[in-house]
Amino acid sequence: MSTVLVIGAGGVSSVCVHKMAMNTGIFGEIHLASRTRSKCDAIAASVKQRIGAEVKTYEIDAEEVPAMVNLIRKVNPSLVVNLALPYQDLPIMDACMEAGVNYLDTANYEPKDEAKFEYHWQWAYHDRFKEAGLMALLGSGFDPGVTSVFTMWLKKHKLKTIRQLDILDCNGGDHGQHFATNFNPEINIREVTAPARHWENGQWVETPAMQVKTSFDFEGVGPKNAYLMYHEELESLAKFVPELERARFWMTFGDAYITHLTVLQNVGMTSIDPIKYQGREIIPLQFLAAVLPKPETLGETTKGKTNIGCIATGEALNGSGEKTFYINNICDHEDAFAETGNQAVSYTTGVPAMIGSAMMVQGIWKGDGVFNMEQMDPDPYMDMLNAHGLPWQVVELDRPVEF
Ligand code: NDP
Repeated sequence: MSTVLVIGAGGVSSVCVHKMAMNTGIFGEIHLASRTRSKCDAIAASVKQRIGAEVKTYEIDAEEVPAMVNLIRKVNPSLVVNLALPYQDLPIMDACMEAGVNYLDTANYEPKDEAKFEYHWQWAYHDRFKEAGLMALLGSGFDPGVTSVFTMWLKKHKLKTIRQLDILDCNGGDHGQHFATNFNPEINIREVTAPARHWENGQWVETPAMQVKTSFDFEGVGPKNAYLMYHEELESLAKFVPELERARFWMTFGDAYITHLTVLQNVGMTSIDPIKYQGREIIPLQFLAAVLPKPETLGETTKGKTNIGCIATGEALNGSGEKTFYINNICDHEDAFAETGNQAVSYTTGVPAMIGSAMMVQGIWKGDGVFNMEQMDPDPYMDMLNAHGLPWQVVELDRPVEF
């Protein structure tokens, strides 16, 4: 049994902490710290009421490295699970190194003043983690996270090489609001308004945001428009699956979402450049995020399903020529809410964060340095997905994607 310290108290954290509390044989002691202590206390109260387990709570600004080091030393965990925002990745990694503790997150570092999410900032910590005999696991959410594990599972069990890969992320949930994001609005809008980028023939191909779309019939949801986007696992997949000729990421958005986002963009509300407002500097996107519904409040009203997975084409392991496989998970918003009090987008991220943590604290996944999900054995992780609420399925398609 191990002690874990979770940072951040949003929807993803809430799911992860509930799931850790359901697995006390793995996570003996759970500590939860965030910027707003009352949010930690609310999660702890829900865990107590639903599961009967104790969660100790603290207030912390994770960007204050000395305070983080003190907290880590006080709690003495074997793992720090970063479920705050991407901006806090580097300070939390710094604190982990200073306090001598392993690290896990679900989203790669992004500087506040530039919407540029790339792994190089965190990969640069590899040698220092290695020398310290510590492990950092990057991106143990669904995408990134499970999508990389799905791809590596296909590579281990079905395909010798993967020629082309399409990651399809569909949220078919309806929350009844005019406009809301299902995870942190600031991070979500930075992601969807960034130019699209995909990997093709050894280089990145950039296209304007939300311009390239296809229609796909998602099981459990129905036909949806999916838009080509850049997503961070494309970078690690291109690195660790070097034979990939093409890798793309698609996310579904309804017409109402696109219309709202277009208007907000046109009037400057999604900008991350500071402006002066009533004598003080504000960032329009942060102001917008403050007035949008909080993702953790959407659970009660959200109905429908998510369906996220990968379609991979390549040379079959058994020598039977080129094959195409589709591997995915379907998650129901109302079931997710009934179990942890959070909608399926938080659920599909929080469960993999718990599973990645379980892999690390049990020593099933281990190593010295900074690692991506692609570098680990997919099998034990895939088993835990089936056992802990995110069952997956794999089918062979009769041809590669036609879009
Ligand atoms: P939320 O905005 O709901 O929660 C973020 C939490 O972090 C809040 O409790 C916030 O505190 C806290 N926080 C922010 N800044 C600090 C700080 N300086 N110090 C301490 N705590 C801080 O986000 P989500 O739960 O939706 O997302 C959490 C993470 O998961 C994000 O990094 C997101 O990008 C990632 N994610 C990954 C996905 C994947 O599939 N890989 C999918 C979805 C999300 P406060 O309450 O005070 O604001």
